[in-house]
Amino acid sequence: MSARLTGAKRVIVKIGSALLVDQETGALRRPWLEALADDIIAMRGRGQDVVIVSSGAIALGRHMIALGSGLLKLEEHQAAAAIGQVALAHAYSEVLAARGCVGAQVLLTLTDTEQRRRYLNARGTLAALLKRGAIPVINENDTVATSEIRYGDNDRLAARVSSMLGADCLVLLSDVDGLYTAAPETDPGAELLPEVTSITPQIEAMAGKPGSAFGSGGMVTKIEAARIAVGAGAHMVIASGRIDHPLHALENGANCTWFTASATPVAARKKWIAGTLEPCGALTVDDGAAKALQSGKSLLPAGITGVIGTFGRGDAVRVVDTSGTELGRGLCAYDCADAQRIIGHKSREIEQILGYRGRDEMIHRDDLVLVKG
Ligand code: GLU
Repeated sequence: MSARLTGAKRVIVKIGSALLVDQETGALRRPWLEALADDIIAMRGRGQDVVIVSSGAIALGRHMIALGSGLLKLEEHQAAAAIGQVALAHAYSEVLAARGCVGAQVLLTLTDTEQRRRYLNARGTLAALLKRGAIPVINENDTVATSEIRYGDNDRLAARVSSMLGADCLVLLSDVDGLYTAAPETDPGAELLPEVTSITPQIEAMAGKPGSAFGSGGMVTKIEAARIAVGAGAHMVIASGRIDHPLHALENGANCTWFTASATPVAARKKWIAGTLEPCGALTVDDGAAKALQSGKSLLPAGITGVIGTFGRGDAVRVVDTSGTELGRGLCAYDCADAQRIIGHKSREIEQILGYRGRDEMIHRDDLVLVKG
């Protein structure tokens, strides 16, 4: 199953605070981070896109302003994050630079993955970073996130990022090496599950309850993360980061629990487009474009003859032929007003007409689902 990691095109690696920050001294565990960076560079060397989701800002920051180990008030929490995040980003930047790579800090808030417009912007930025060979290092923007509007934990954040970027593998590095049938600390019969193919109530029960001794390792949020990631077509793995070179160990078959996705990220995305989204409008296409779509091409502005309805950028629209028959559905890269202005034109004219350089395609083929038959 380790081929799921070595063979993935795009991998999200989530790193928990307990791995990065020494619990006693509150200091960054630098040698561990150096070793992790080696693993990540090796993955990049194989041509894989790697995105890091890292916790640790609050754990580092609270030590730097001597906030002690007790419960923090919201504003103390946010202050600790503001201080710790600088140190965290600096550490990543240094270890990556020492290996010839550029790190990029990206701080997300809940709305960045839940609101279509912000989602598209965040996705665009991350795609641009990856295209240029940078390694995004993502955390929640804890200094502005209040309890009502936060992911709350980076397991869920990492799963949202995985789905947003169409990643095919999500690795949660944690202080446990996977999901056990019972609490391993207290039950000698507890067994590690190597693979979970379906998240049943029984599996949920194994994760324990939030706040229980067994659940305090965060297994509940990991199962929620698995549901999101697997639903978006990524295999997810929970593995121990307690050792140096944890990704290398995982590639070589270390203990872990895999949550298996049944579809690819593109297939999962297409199912979501075809089945879940309500179309807000339609684009009429000429016969040439209709033929191009059937042969797997994207929909370009040049082949569109009409724009119907009111829709925003990233909204779902129907694609219809000149007789009004639905050919498919997809996510439109322009809002209806801009779409109206560029239809019938060559993609290279878009910038001149709109005053900005958008996508060449009105609907990219990865965002397009054709009606079968
Ligand atoms: N965003 C928090 C931090 O950087 C961590 C959240 C989590 O551990 O899941 O400290």
